[in-house]
Amino acid sequence: MYDYLIVGAGFAGSVLAERLATIANKKVLLIDKRNHIAGNAYDHYDQAGILVHKYGPHIFHTNSREVFSYLSKFTEWRNYQHRVLASLDGQLVPMPINLTTINLLYGLNLSSSELTAFFESKAEKKKDINTSEDVVVSVVGRELYEKFFKGYTKKQWDMDPSELNASVTARVPTRTNKDDRYFTDSYQSMPLYGYTKMFEKMLDHPNIHIMLNTDYKDVIGEVNYKKLIFTGPIDEYFDYQFGRLPYRSIEFKFETLDQDNFQPTGTVNYPNDYGFTRITEFKHLSGQQHKKTSIVYEFPKAEGDPYYPIPKPDNTLLYEKYQKLAAKLEHTYFVGRLATYKYYNMDQVVAQALSTFKKIQSEESTNAV
Ligand code: FAD
Ligand code: UDP
Repeated sequence: MYDYLIVGAGFAGSVLAERLATIANKKVLLIDKRNHIAGNAYDHYDQAGILVHKYGPHIFHTNSREVFSYLSKFTEWRNYQHRVLASLDGQLVPMPINLTTINLLYGLNLSSSELTAFFESKAEKKKDINTSEDVVVSVVGRELYEKFFKGYTKKQWDMDPSELNASVTARVPTRTNKDDRYFTDSYQSMPLYGYTKMFEKMLDHPNIHIMLNTDYKDVIGEVNYKKLIFTGPIDEYFDYQFGRLPYRSIEFKFETLDQDNFQPTGTVNYPNDYGFTRITEFKHLSGQQHKKTSIVYEFPKAEGDPYYPIPKPDNTLLYEKYQKLAAKLEHTYFVGRLATYKYYNMDQVVAQALSTFKKIQSEESTNAV
């Protein structure tokens, strides 16, 4: 008899397994339909011996001291500030758009205050900011929006930015200084030995039993457990009874090149050319020394593993119908990017899992009284 059956060994499921086993002394069965732990953060050494991320580049960044110190129990870190270039009009310019980007793109020599005035002269004033188009054109105007955002977003989501919630393109800021880092969070680093090693340490506990290559539907009737934590797609759990929640998928194309270095930064975005959105070279992320280099191209597509919930108003309404069903279930918790249909980064999923653990603890102590 297990106290908890946890479906999904990504961040959501693994953090909860670790907390329940270690702090609450619960017996946990953690299952995943894939042949590995770590969910979409899974990394491994490829044939050439280079550390790559199977489900696309994962860069850790957070402003949460709680999340960072929690994960630090299971890994040492390598400081890494991610930088991205956009391939545009025949040159590579920094993304997010900043002072250097504009000066390079237009052959100018603006100062920060001149750039503020430049953006103001281009910005389209909006009464309300509702969509991913509004967010960008209201700050930098239509020309830069079309160069950097419109084509990339169409490729990534197969949708015009005007159809997507503002939160999607709002992930990428605009700057008037020369800060060319992709993220500005207070903690930015990569697990020194990779994500999978960090997960192995997290899950190394006698109270945690792991079953891989196991879909929960195939075992749910045969396992004895008291409570369920589900981190897969919420619409799948409820047999799609209100219809399917849309997800965006990606085809990853990996290459190993017989050269030391491929591109100047970890990632180069291709907003307007080719079928892929971006290329990432892993050695920048890991700091690994190797005479060859491995890269990954990302080709977005509709079918395939569900990677991205699609933030738009009608999808939120559909999710809320499933959420209402979920709220009625006893002893069942929905946690993570797929189970709560939120475009969450890794740190947000860890924070959500830690707060779910606190909720479980307080429910158990109330019931014990
Ligand atoms: P997942 O990691 O998806 O884990 C869910 C697990 O449930 C999976 O392993 C799945 O196999 C399993 N499962 C599903 N259904 C079943 C079933 N029926 N039976 C058994 N098991 C099942 N975040 C960042 O912070 N930085 C980044 O740079 C970053 N880059 C990203 C790049 C890409 C291309 C993608 C797709 C995501 C990226 N993310 C990034 C987001 C990050 O991947 C997620 O926030 C995080 O991995 C979500 O963890 P999770 O546990 O909720 O879900
Ligand atoms: N985006 C864009 N151009 C870029 C980078 C991002 O239009 O060069 C938009 C696009 O819609 C993308 C979103 O901003 O999906 C969020 O970008 P981010 O890099 O955070 O995407 P992720 O790493 O989550 O795929």
